[in-house]
Amino acid sequence: MTRVFNFSAGPAALPEPVLRQAAEEMLDWHGAGCGVMEMSHRGKEFTSIIERAEIDFRELLAIPDEYRVLFLQGGATQQFAQIPMNLLAGGSADYLVTGTWSKKAYSEAKHLAVALGGGARLAGSTEQDGFTRLLDAEELELDENARYLHLCTNETIHGVELRDPARLPRTAVPIVADMSSHILSRPIDVNRYGLIYAGAQKNIGPSGLVIVIVREDLLGRASAVTPAVMDYRVMADNGSMLNTPPTYAIYVAGLVFQWLKGQGGLAAVEANNIAKAKLLYDFLDASDFYANPVEPTARSRMNIPFLLRDESLNDAFLAGAKEAGLAQLKGHKSVGGMRASIYNAMPLAGVEALVDYMRDFSARKG
Ligand SMILES: *Cc1c(COP(=O)(O)O)cnc(C)c1O
Repeated sequence: MTRVFNFSAGPAALPEPVLRQAAEEMLDWHGAGCGVMEMSHRGKEFTSIIERAEIDFRELLAIPDEYRVLFLQGGATQQFAQIPMNLLAGGSADYLVTGTWSKKAYSEAKHLAVALGGGARLAGSTEQDGFTRLLDAEELELDENARYLHLCTNETIHGVELRDPARLPRTAVPIVADMSSHILSRPIDVNRYGLIYAGAQKNIGPSGLVIVIVREDLLGRASAVTPAVMDYRVMADNGSMLNTPPTYAIYVAGLVFQWLKGQGGLAAVEANNIAKAKLLYDFLDASDFYANPVEPTARSRMNIPFLLRDESLNDAFLAGAKEAGLAQLKGHKSVGGMRASIYNAMPLAGVEALVDYMRDFSARKG
């Protein structure tokens, strides 16, 4: 068996020890006589799995008691709809558009707001700059009466990340953040947010699961048209189990949480992520063969897009990378070029192998 270094943006690489443990437990989980996929979500075995997963997740992110953690289905895209359904009712929400994902969230909210008897406002956008930077405070046009302010703290496609808490808008309005592609990559102050959500398939586990962290005072505000399975209050009251939750995805996520704790928690994970990203950015910046288009203070540690100056070499670059065991480096079709997604599960050795290959390729072709 040869495993590649997998730079996929999502579904993405999982830590190898997690996959090995899941394989070992596939047929018989802890003597239950069956695997996790086959057991009742209401039995004591699965109950212990979901409870442990929540405890570990709370511990990793230091989530305060007044926040609820929901394990939901439908991915981050479903949250684009679920957030206005739960929080907008008859009011207005502000959206910051800093890349493809926040643009999609805004578009869905605008569409739904009509039916919800409210509105969605664009409070700032970097689209005219090709989504290569963050918004400055002076550019924002915030509505202090908005029901919430939505933003995406890591734009997976453009490689733009908001990390510095000083760059988070100063507002009394609850901030709703899409953290799908960088949650658990470093410690954060959950108190700065009203709601955080993240699809699992980037930095948490299998697709199909989305985790929502929501402050308790934001529960119970859903518009009357909200289906029960999409109502945060109902899901919170039912321990995310109004219906059958994505049990296997929750189990694997729980294994990932234990693996992260074993790494020393998020401070240690962050140090590793800093080293990985620095290695690749330093190489890109020293090269005149490759380039990253993102403004330095906005560069993501998780998703690193780069272009070959001579784009006619793209296919040769990808073919050689594949041969070197470096998979899924093709950039998103909307931006072209390459993208290396280096989530928590990517070891430093994978980034070293990528940089070695890139150096070698540019020496041969440059
Ligand atoms: C991948 C991604 C999404 C969409 O996730 P789905 O699970 O496919 O709905 C939304 N936001 C961000 C930031 C993403 O990276």
